Amino acid sequence: MNSEKPVSTFDRLRYQKLKKVIADHLEAGFKVWSAVKEIKESKFYLIEYQSWEDFCRGSLKLTPQHTNKMLIASEAIIDPVESQVVDGPSKSEYNVHFVSKQVSKQPDQKKSNKVIEIAAKSSNVPKIVDAVEVIKDDLGHPIPVKVQQYWRRKDELKELVNAISGVIKAIKEANEIQDLLFAEMEITGNIADLEKVRANIKFSIPYAVCSVCQGHPEAQKGGCRLCKNRGLLGKFLWDRCVPVEIKALRAKK
Ligand SMILES: [Zn+2]
Repeated sequence: MNSEKPVSTFDRLRYQKLKKVIADHLEAGFKVWSAVKEIKESKFYLIEYQSWEDFCRGSLKLTPQHTNKMLIASEAIIDPVESQVVDGPSKSEYNVHFVSKQVSKQPDQKKSNKVIEIAAKSSNVPKIVDAVEVIKDDLGHPIPVKVQQYWRRKDELKELVNAISGVIKAIKEANEIQDLLFAEMEITGNIADLEKVRANIKFSIPYAVCSVCQGHPEAQKGGCRLCKNRGLLGKFLWDRCVPVEIKALRAKK
């Protein structure tokens, strides 16, 4: 390895640029291998390919050997990512988790705890809770921590909406070209049903903190009937079921 310290302006600029590439794509890299792992283990590759080998070559443009090596190498970092598919861990969460995971392999638990403690104190490893992030609903109202999990999972519902849109589109196109594969379907009725399901899912995408329990359904006797203990309301419910006075109060804050 070159032992000379890079000092030119070009070196510094290049270094900053490379650091930005790492910062921008670090988490994405973990997610890629988590996805590849799931596709392999669930045999999802059979949906499109005849074999795992074909998937590696066709979809990843890698040899199966290379892919398997990458999977093994990334094994240690996949776990913390796949447990949070929607948001993924922050980089600081990842760091602490990774250090803990590495350390936990050591036989002496007391020693391990000590190393975790040191790692957590190290300036190179940010603490998990540097600051409590304030998350606000679409009306700018802070969302209580306990129900933030549903807010963070909004994309799951959006993905379902998109998936149904894809099905509707496919059926409409099949109908347009009179594709006989779909001959037994009652196209108009089926599309109307799908549109209804899509609308219902869309309506339930979290929009605002519940106006009855204020995002604390556990504090309501028997739970909150309006938000069904989610602590959040979809836009449809908010528009239709929340009294004007309460909307005005919320808007003032
Ligand atoms: Zn409620």
